[in-house]
Amino acid sequence: MIELPEALTLANQISEFLAGKTVVSTTAAQSPHKFAWYHGDPANYPTKLNGSRILSARGQGMFVEVALSNCMLLFSDGVNLRLHPSAGPIPAKHQLLLTFEDGTSLSASVAMYGGVVCWAKPEPFENSYYETAQAKPSPLSEAFDEAYFRALLAPESVRKLPLKAALATEQRIPGLGNGCLQDILWEARLHPRCKVNALSDAELQQLYISLKLTLREMTQAGGRSTEKDLFGQPGGYQVRLCAQTKGKPCPRCGSPIVKEAYLGGSVYTCPTCQ
Ligand SMILES: [Zn+2]
Repeated sequence: MIELPEALTLANQISEFLAGKTVVSTTAAQSPHKFAWYHGDPANYPTKLNGSRILSARGQGMFVEVALSNCMLLFSDGVNLRLHPSAGPIPAKHQLLLTFEDGTSLSASVAMYGGVVCWAKPEPFENSYYETAQAKPSPLSEAFDEAYFRALLAPESVRKLPLKAALATEQRIPGLGNGCLQDILWEARLHPRCKVNALSDAELQQLYISLKLTLREMTQAGGRSTEKDLFGQPGGYQVRLCAQTKGKPCPRCGSPIVKEAYLGGSVYTCPTCQ
């Protein structure tokens, strides 16, 4: 699932490699998918998209937002975006396929669930997750400073939550999900089950520093190694705690990394460091 580092990486790649290209054909909802959602009838997507030119893209939380000359496109986490050369090949299954005048194409494939949203300008697109992602400061921005972070965790309703729920649910921090969370907590030497109200002042500061530095490192490296970019290449940030490193030695102390189910997903921890 893409999170902030991957949304930013994909948006940068779309801006760099697709800006200026005009859509000549659109195929939407060709492969049936129970958990793919659209805006309005996808049968109308070609009318909105054909003849439209890609202007730019940006990452907004876990969304990749693409501005075209006539409309907007929004891809949620759970959507795989790939650029294909004019010679192909193109994946057999996809939820959206745009072909450009030079023969290259962009496919969007929903894995488990995800949104492939297109709306005509200047019609608004109302979605609470998207609005939150736009309204709140990105954890990579200067506005997301230590005072902001502490205020975010200060309400009593948040203080009683475990760190996993406090940091990676409710879009409290746009773009931060359970994937990025694992290395952030490992760097801060804190367990996902640890409650916010159990943290010392120094631990809170350590967590803030780890969150900023880890997300920045992941973004600068072009996303995490567990996710793929626009060209199908894994990101340059080697994830320390994930499914692939389960049972392998902790890079800090050598204890085997442990996987457990917690709050509707897996968490990976070092039993010694955390
Ligand atoms: Zn360790």
